[in-house]
Amino acid sequence: MFKPVDANPDFSKLERETLERWKKDGIIEKYLHKNDESKKSFRFLDGPITANNSMGVHHAHGRALKDFFQRYYNLKGYKQRFQNGFDCQGLWVEVEVEKEMGFNSKREIENYGLANFSKACRRRVDKFSQVQAEQSQRLGMFMDWENSYYTMSETNNLYIWHFLKECQKQGWLYKGTDSMPWCSRCGTAISNHELSDGGYQIVKHESVYVKFPIKGKKGESLLIWTTTPWTLLANVAVAVNPKFDYVKVEVEGEKDTLIVGRSRLQILGKKYTVLAEFKGGKLIDLEYDGPFDKLPANRKVEHRVISWDEVGEEEGTGLVHIAPGAGHEDFELHLKYKLDLIAPLDENGIYQEGFGDFTGKSAHKVKNEVFTSLKKKGLFYKTEWIEHSYPCCWRCKEELVFRTTSEWFIKVTPEFRRKIRQVNRAVNWIPVHAGKRMDDWLKNMGDWPISRQRYWGLALPFFECECGELTVVDSKKELKKLALEPRKVDTLPELHRPWIDGIKIKCPQCGEVVERITDVGDCWLDAGIVPFSTVKYLEDKKYWREWYPFDFITEYFSQIKLWFYTTLFMSTALEGKAPWKTVLATGFIVDEKGEAMHKSKGNAIWFDEAVEKMGADVMRWIYFLSPASHSDAKLPFGFHLADEARRRFHLILWNVYKFFVTYANLDDWKPAKKNPSELKLRLLDKWLLERLDQVVWEVTQNLDKYDAAAAGNLLEGFVINDLSTWYVRLVRDRVSPSSQDKKDKEVAYHVLHQTLLILCRLLAPFIPFMSDKMYKNLTGEPSVHLSSWPKLKVKPKASILIEKMNRARQIVELGHSGRKEKGVKVRQPLAGLTYFSNHPRLESELEALIQKELNVKTIKYEREEGELRVDLDFNLTPDLIEEGKVREITRQIQVLRKSLGCKFNDLVRIYFHGDPDLVALIEKNQNDIQKEVLIADSIQSFKPNILGKEVTINQAKIWLGIEKR
Ligand SMILES: [Zn+2]
Ligand SMILES: [Zn+2]
Repeated sequence: MFKPVDANPDFSKLERETLERWKKDGIIEKYLHKNDESKKSFRFLDGPITANNSMGVHHAHGRALKDFFQRYYNLKGYKQRFQNGFDCQGLWVEVEVEKEMGFNSKREIENYGLANFSKACRRRVDKFSQVQAEQSQRLGMFMDWENSYYTMSETNNLYIWHFLKECQKQGWLYKGTDSMPWCSRCGTAISNHELSDGGYQIVKHESVYVKFPIKGKKGESLLIWTTTPWTLLANVAVAVNPKFDYVKVEVEGEKDTLIVGRSRLQILGKKYTVLAEFKGGKLIDLEYDGPFDKLPANRKVEHRVISWDEVGEEEGTGLVHIAPGAGHEDFELHLKYKLDLIAPLDENGIYQEGFGDFTGKSAHKVKNEVFTSLKKKGLFYKTEWIEHSYPCCWRCKEELVFRTTSEWFIKVTPEFRRKIRQVNRAVNWIPVHAGKRMDDWLKNMGDWPISRQRYWGLALPFFECECGELTVVDSKKELKKLALEPRKVDTLPELHRPWIDGIKIKCPQCGEVVERITDVGDCWLDAGIVPFSTVKYLEDKKYWREWYPFDFITEYFSQIKLWFYTTLFMSTALEGKAPWKTVLATGFIVDEKGEAMHKSKGNAIWFDEAVEKMGADVMRWIYFLSPASHSDAKLPFGFHLADEARRRFHLILWNVYKFFVTYANLDDWKPAKKNPSELKLRLLDKWLLERLDQVVWEVTQNLDKYDAAAAGNLLEGFVINDLSTWYVRLVRDRVSPSSQDKKDKEVAYHVLHQTLLILCRLLAPFIPFMSDKMYKNLTGEPSVHLSSWPKLKVKPKASILIEKMNRARQIVELGHSGRKEKGVKVRQPLAGLTYFSNHPRLESELEALIQKELNVKTIKYEREEGELRVDLDFNLTPDLIEEGKVREITRQIQVLRKSLGCKFNDLVRIYFHGDPDLVALIEKNQNDIQKEVLIADSIQSFKPNILGKEVTINQAKIWLGIEKR
């Protein structure tokens, strides 16, 4: 006996019970070690999740997908590592801890004490890595949780030291000055790759048009435009495009004549007269008066017009204000043209000494003062509000400024760029254009700025001596060797600030005492080193070679400039090859309307709520079947979609399973090892098994290409269209209690049982809970996750039977639409059907299925060229009409049985009363009706106070009542 199946399953509850059972029976442990002895291995590397908050449903998508492919390869018998990773260092943790503590500046952190702050960061990571591990288990992830890696570990940090030392050996490491995007709240530089993921926001700014009087040409000014008025205090040049046309114009109400790009005249917004026209080249080297020349910091600056091909015609005036201390490209122009450099801001975004009234004020807050000052000097033209995409801090969302600072960089040499691009070309990118995107990034990437002026992060092991010697320490052993007090190294509680800051070394060159620089590392170094640090690259080369390079990784598309990039960079630097062979870059979650989910918008969905309301299997089904699991498409997600998925798939599958268990139990059927040849399969049975073979083959093919979406859609199609709405529907009569053919019942049970078992194994990676629940009940084995993937040695041949069945189903469809057109219900039997086809006649067994589905007495075939068509005989004889009425009465009794809550083998008593013709009809057909709907006896009378209803059949009325016997 199989355990009876619940008609109204609470999937979430079933999942929680299953989790308990897995734990109790040690299923996960057995799963992890199932293939330890296997010769084949599947090498998966988990990109670390930031252990900083509870999971959102977007995290769950990526994590479910990782679990999915590990399950697939585990069923296929591949040895694997199941190591989960947590990302633990960097600004994201720091900013959350600051919020927790109510801090809003670096000063507050320093007052609190770095040791306390680092401990608080660690506590947060410890807490949320635990939370995320529990949530992931609820999602159905099977991982080796005890052996998770943490990027804050000493091992991971020391591996980065090693990497940095290698960079130094190659001559790639240097300290340079640049104008970098800078967060004045966090007090740190931000790199371009950090800006790539959510670093830009749409912001409204009041831009300003400003006049710069040309020296030696009285009454003539250059007109420039800027969206960041604070940078005007750092202006040193104006750039023009030498190839563009410029004009000198007289503008209504303006004293001075102005110079603007000819294609930008519309920005003037006033009447104007063009006085002269010339190429931009003519403007080059003109000198002009800067807007803030009186400020002490600006007194010696010489302003001039320079040439720049990047000046565009799409916005502004065609003349670009250049402030090398406040913009990256401006800084490059400063190097090229040896322009002056004014660096106005300190690390908190405050004007430094030398800026008059502006000194001590925040760059974010001086807009109106700048405007007033310009007006006073007669340099103001107009302002204009604009909405544009502007860089913001990826962590705290504050608008960034640009600031000239000294940072540490890893140089990208032309050879390295060539090498890394070549390495990238060997990677199997899914989708293909992700690889192209990576190549674009690699082609254009600048040197990698690796230093951050923060606290909880990798301590950069750089000791810079005044003699010019830079010592990069690559291990604890080396640190101890160089340390002033070696014993202090042994007692370091960890390699983080502030403890590490206490270690001083003796300069190997001059013997002077040197302190470590205080900067920490870019957190993408932490995650980038894991292809080495997690597989013992430095300690056990044999082990490392067994697992590196990795076969497969998957993350969001936006990781191209982040984790994909830094792992590729570090692996190319250390080993000259890619750390992974296949990369699946996936899409991102949106709400049901297609809009991005945001906490602030109120449309974000938390994992805990989702998993309890929807169930993990439903979530996973939505995730996997979306094209976003195989490309960078959007993934719509929400509670309505969950209800829809559950109705469309999970409940249909559950009902097939329930149907099988209920009937098989009723007949006390037990699975027995049967040779299929002993069973007399009908064509319908053979068809289902052939379809199943096809599905196994195609699903496997798709999963070998990492396409869970295609595989899932095939499985859903099979369960809904083939198994549920065709096979189960047609097999119902064969297994019903009124059927006496025991042998045929056994065949049906066997086929259904086999099909369900294979389905469970195919579905195990998709819906690990439900598939296991079903499999355990159907087999008595402990878990589907300890079984194996259904294997087909060769591709199934094109099936003639499947093709024929398709035709039969097409005939049925045509028949149904023919009936619909005439308004004749299927309950009304028809005398006959003829189908016209250019294919040979179908087997009588298939024709019988068509007859039954369409309720026709006879079926005829005629050969005819052209499209398949169907002709129904709608002439109704009195016999047919009578049969139709009997069917309708039978159906109404079935409805009553359901309302009464009858199990399908309960016996009932029927009362009937009304139209004499109908009464006579029931009496005449009593036997047929009784057999169909399990009536014990029927009585011609009205009985009050029982369940009953009046029904109308062809205008005549009859009352039907029912009670349990
Ligand atoms: Zn910030
Ligand atoms: Zn020295």
